[in-house]
Amino acid sequence: AEKQEEETRPVAPLVPGNDTGRPLVELTHVEKHFGDLHVLKDINLTVNKGEVLVVVGPSGSGKSTMCRTINRLETIDSGDIRIDGKALPQEGRELANLRAEVGMVFQSFNLFANKTILDNVTLAPIKVRHMDRKEAEKLAMDLLARVGVDSQANKMPSQLSGGQQQRVAIARALAMRPKVMLFDEPTSALDPEMVNEVLDVMVELAHEGMTMICVTHEMGFARKAADRIVFMANGQILEENTPDEFFDHPKTERAKDFLSKIL
Ligand code: ADP
Ligand code: MG
Repeated sequence: AEKQEEETRPVAPLVPGNDTGRPLVELTHVEKHFGDLHVLKDINLTVNKGEVLVVVGPSGSGKSTMCRTINRLETIDSGDIRIDGKALPQEGRELANLRAEVGMVFQSFNLFANKTILDNVTLAPIKVRHMDRKEAEKLAMDLLARVGVDSQANKMPSQLSGGQQQRVAIARALAMRPKVMLFDEPTSALDPEMVNEVLDVMVELAHEGMTMICVTHEMGFARKAADRIVFMANGQILEENTPDEFFDHPKTERAKDFLSKIL
């Protein structure tokens, strides 16, 4: 029955609803080690539906690891992570379904190099969502148009600029109709002139109500798009505040020091 529902789902809504009344993402007392390295220390974080959370902090502070735990690309040692009230599944089909609900865009444009732009976007909806090809292509073209690269649909990834590839990566993640989008420094590998075309897509997505967790050093974007800023250092969340409060009145020395270097 569940499969039937998936197949007949209409193409339109970009932002799925949640009716649980709980935060969409909840991390409670999350701990993680890499060998002797204590990389996540008692991480407590909630993200509500429609909220845009920006995570900042020095390199090596655990930002990427935290993101990766949310769709279980990394396991945790202890604590609890829930998406829309549900604990993360351990494996198998349930884990695949969870990953489909959590879209992720990385620093490197990890498109499938030997597939066209269109195929990059249709692959997962067909394989995981069992969408028929025609419907998947319609959805893909709609999403490629939203991010401004529909004219590139039949090209190979290597024929696109980095900024275009990253926008395709966003469209590809959106094609699974994720409940939340994770961005891990999506503009860090881009040539400077391409940064804004990607940030603009992210701002638009935020305005459309997508729930987003964004690790970024783009402080202009953070000010403009974030509902909340989380500052991480050395595996801990040291500050959590509105953008204005965080940027204008950082509370900790670590945050003051970080901001003095980056702004
Ligand atoms: P950030 O994204 O804030 O730069 P990361 O989460 O990538 O930080 O890394 C946090 C720390 O964990 C770093 O010291 C990094 O070297 C280490 N680390 C990250 N991934 C691994 C791994 N797979 N194995 C061992 N150490 C890792
Ligand atoms: Mg990182």
